[in-house]
Amino acid sequence: MNNLKKYNEKRNFNKTKEPKGKKEKTEKKLRFVVQHHLARRDHYDLRLEYNGVLLSWAVPKGPSFNPEDKRLAVRVEDHPLSYRNFEGTIPKGEYGGGTVMLWDKGCYQDEGNFSQDLKKGVLKFTLKGKRLKGKWTLIHFKEDNWLLIKENDEFANLENITKFNKSIKTNRTMKEISENKTKAKLITSKKDAIVCGIKITNPDKVIFNNPKVTKLDIALYYHKVAKKMLPFIKNRLFSAVRMPDGVGGEKFFKKHFETNPYLGKKIIFNEKGQRNDYYYIKDEQGLIYEVQMNSYEFHVWGSKVDNLNSPDLMVLDLDPDKNLRINKLRTGVKDIKKLLKQLKLSCYLKTSGNKGYHIMIPIKEKISWKKFREIAKKIAEIMENEDATRFTSNIRINSRKDKIFIDWQRNIKGATFVAPYSLRLKDKPTISMPISWNKLDSVKPDKFNIKNI
Ligand code: MN
Repeated sequence: MNNLKKYNEKRNFNKTKEPKGKKEKTEKKLRFVVQHHLARRDHYDLRLEYNGVLLSWAVPKGPSFNPEDKRLAVRVEDHPLSYRNFEGTIPKGEYGGGTVMLWDKGCYQDEGNFSQDLKKGVLKFTLKGKRLKGKWTLIHFKEDNWLLIKENDEFANLENITKFNKSIKTNRTMKEISENKTKAKLITSKKDAIVCGIKITNPDKVIFNNPKVTKLDIALYYHKVAKKMLPFIKNRLFSAVRMPDGVGGEKFFKKHFETNPYLGKKIIFNEKGQRNDYYYIKDEQGLIYEVQMNSYEFHVWGSKVDNLNSPDLMVLDLDPDKNLRINKLRTGVKDIKKLLKQLKLSCYLKTSGNKGYHIMIPIKEKISWKKFREIAKKIAEIMENEDATRFTSNIRINSRKDKIFIDWQRNIKGATFVAPYSLRLKDKPTISMPISWNKLDSVKPDKFNIKNI
């Protein structure tokens, strides 16, 4: 079996939030997970990492700590490694429709040789989970049917697994997980709200006055756009703007997020050998947790964390002089697009959420930050040389009169640009929104906000 074709065929990823099946690299320590899955039938899924996927068994009665019990374990299709983090609901009518809770996870040790033992039909392994520990055996007897047995060791006992009825990740019961969505919308009258497993405190706090937007509205907004936003922010070092007291209150630009347990961390030493800790968002939880910590605007690097020195997303911020008419700005944006086309660079458009537009240019070739910066600068200079009455590459305000300032300077290592779908923390809750090129003439830079998106 050992591939994800079956897994992908069984699921409609437009409908379910389960991860798409992609094979990943196996890490040194092999991981396992047990998910309590209340679908048509109640069962527990045991998944063992092997060769970049999760070998999977559905165990109707769940594992037993008692070596006398032989629990039926039905081998099912391999699951992608990322499935080990999945907790939530699968829509009714979809494959496996129901509720999935992370019941246990940890590392395991292969006590034989899995590649041979799989064929023989006897797998021996030691689990180092929070709930399941010690030696276990899986024995194949016919078709897809195996038996899961606890070996006799110091972790064997007569306890019933049902005493563990809460998620090891979010401490929620099955009921709380399945009610999660409706709860987020209904609970505003109570003290706290839950969005995507994260408790939002002070949900009713007003962050924007006109239109009125609460902290919970912002959490629900990011929950709603997470799927579209994550491809742009995931695994990129980021900074955020916090505004705990709402419009008019203090704003903090934040780079260090040691209090958020859901983030990835990257340690970087500068030329002087000084250590700096940077952080990156890995999933929706990381994003929502930041909202809980009052971060409402997100800025990301032009490179990803696993390839920090190869920038892959260039951004030109087209910032018009305050008196420049919008049709002149739009013509300028189109002229820059023409140049990029001549340079055989594809590019995407987003609103700034303020006065300008941003052009995003994916860079597929591996280039250094130095080269990357030179290219961005050159683009701005070519436009300026072509028509210095319309464009400037000079950051000084007094050089901008009636012109479009092409801000290329975000394209250096350590600099950030505002992420697509991020809120902007001005007076109104506007959004930096990706739009298609044919919408340029009809969409103003501040058109989209949290209420009309
Ligand atoms: Mn299942």
